[in-house]
Amino acid sequence: MADHEGVDDDARCPCLTGLPYGECCGPLHRRERAAPTAEALMRSRYSAFAVGDAAYLLSSWHPSTRPADLEIDPDQRWLRLDVVSATGGGPFDDAGTVEFVATYRQDGQRGQLREVSRFVREGGRWFYVDGDVA
Ligand SMILES: [Zn+2]
Repeated sequence: MADHEGVDDDARCPCLTGLPYGECCGPLHRRERAAPTAEALMRSRYSAFAVGDAAYLLSSWHPSTRPADLEIDPDQRWLRLDVVSATGGGPFDDAGTVEFVATYRQDGQRGQLREVSRFVREGGRWFYVDGDVA
């Protein structure tokens, strides 16, 4: 089983929807539910970085662009996610993009990653394809 670093279901979800983890990204990480939208998948991937779930990141990556393996840097702490905009990505779409800003701390310094990510839906599941750092 994936180690979620003791994030419990009652704790605030790292993706900052305001929902508890057990009602937000937790069930996605446990594969109990599939992400209904590209934005939900993007949020769950951010949370997977925050809780250290590399297996979930790989499984939500489209096979055409998925890396062979992935290491999550334990020194990089993810502090905050802001979704800037989204196109498509809804229940009736097969593709979508999500632009976001993710804030982290590493080596005592704060940094930000701003990316436009691309997603596709295949077989009823959303996958991350790739992204452009903005
Ligand atoms: Zn969440």
